[in-house]
Amino acid sequence: MNETSRPDHVTGMRCTLCGKTYLPGEVDYVCPDHGNEGILDIEYDYDAIRRRISPQSLALDRTCSQWRYRPLLPVLPDTPAPAAAVGWTPLYETDRLATSLGLHALYVKDDSRQPTGSLKDRASALAVMKAREVGAGMITTASTGNAAAALAGMCAASDMACTIFVPRSAPRAKVAQLLAYGARVFLVDGSYDDAFELCLKAAGKYGWYNRNTGFNPYMAEGKKTAAFEICEQLDWQCPDAVFVGVGDGCIISGLHKGFMDLFRLGWIDRIPRLMGVQAEGSDFLYRCWKEGADPVTFPAIKAHTVADSISAGLPRDRRKAVAAVNGTGGAFLRVSDEAILAAIPELARLTGVFAEPAGASPLAGLHAALDQDLVARDETCVLLATGSGLKDVDATIRACDAEPPVIAPTLDALGDALNSAKRNQES
Ligand SMILES: *Cc1c(COP(=O)(O)O)cnc(C)c1O
Ligand SMILES: [Zn+2]
Repeated sequence: MNETSRPDHVTGMRCTLCGKTYLPGEVDYVCPDHGNEGILDIEYDYDAIRRRISPQSLALDRTCSQWRYRPLLPVLPDTPAPAAAVGWTPLYETDRLATSLGLHALYVKDDSRQPTGSLKDRASALAVMKAREVGAGMITTASTGNAAAALAGMCAASDMACTIFVPRSAPRAKVAQLLAYGARVFLVDGSYDDAFELCLKAAGKYGWYNRNTGFNPYMAEGKKTAAFEICEQLDWQCPDAVFVGVGDGCIISGLHKGFMDLFRLGWIDRIPRLMGVQAEGSDFLYRCWKEGADPVTFPAIKAHTVADSISAGLPRDRRKAVAAVNGTGGAFLRVSDEAILAAIPELARLTGVFAEPAGASPLAGLHAALDQDLVARDETCVLLATGSGLKDVDATIRACDAEPPVIAPTLDALGDALNSAKRNQES
């Protein structure tokens, strides 16, 4: 993309390490002075945006997707969006869950309802558009599974090709999605972090457009639309705290960016505390934040958790993620795999939202935050259910730990089964 074809409301791309600003098109992904650590942040002309969009214009806008916020996104006016209804997912007010936790108001933002079943669609849709703007014919990404499924789905909805690198251990449902969408898939015999490094090298060697999380500065921009929706759905009232599962830290960074955009526009008058939930076995950001250490130099860990979507030994957006928590007065929370698994049926039974482990982890984090008095009972909280439970049914079967009885198709057999269930309950 040359300079004349940059969106006129985008003023630049600022390096989060050194502060140097580039024009879009001047560099491809990261600040050349810092290699992969030089993650860029997109900057906007908010006066120009304010002339094109307002809470009043949105109230009349019937676009039921994240493209209702197009003037706030870094794309050219005529770049076609994938033919998929990305975003504008429901925000449910929970009654029974709020009551059972003793909370005044608790909402669940249900991003399991995205076209490919996870929040990653918000970013991948933007990736396909940016690839088209630069004339790329092939997009690539490394992923624990959902970013890949989202990219494959958005490519299928836009007639674009993609090459995907996922760890060999990725849940089968996510691999099935990749195959169905017709992606070229490589199962990497290694971790997500290994797949990430390979993907970076391959993109460089073959000239593919690179969607990699963190590395591609536009991904947080796509994810920020979740923050826009939460505020609009609450009538431009800001919640007090938003809980989200954190792996690479791109979603929490995107949320921060989204709330900051609205704050700079004057549409909200404060920013919610961002609460990043990490699994015990993948707690890089929690530990780094707790110790007040520099995320760039903090040593990588070997990540292992049942919540595959938040398994990251070297979170790619670590600087922005720590800044999102510190800049909003939030916290990182560390929860066990057992607590994450227990949150799946709890969320499903009390709200009707069936989430994968990473998508239910915010509820486990809310329990931890209540235990630590990080949330007051009269505050309004939002749980971001980032991915569908259908993505990883093995985890749910483990979580529910129940074998339904097999019965003959007769009322007698049903009667026996009901009686024995009753006896089991009594004993
Ligand atoms: C990717 C993902 C996350 C975590 O997002 P990061 O940007 O890696 O922190 C959480 N939940 C689900 C379902 C995801 O797919
Ligand atoms: Zn720099």
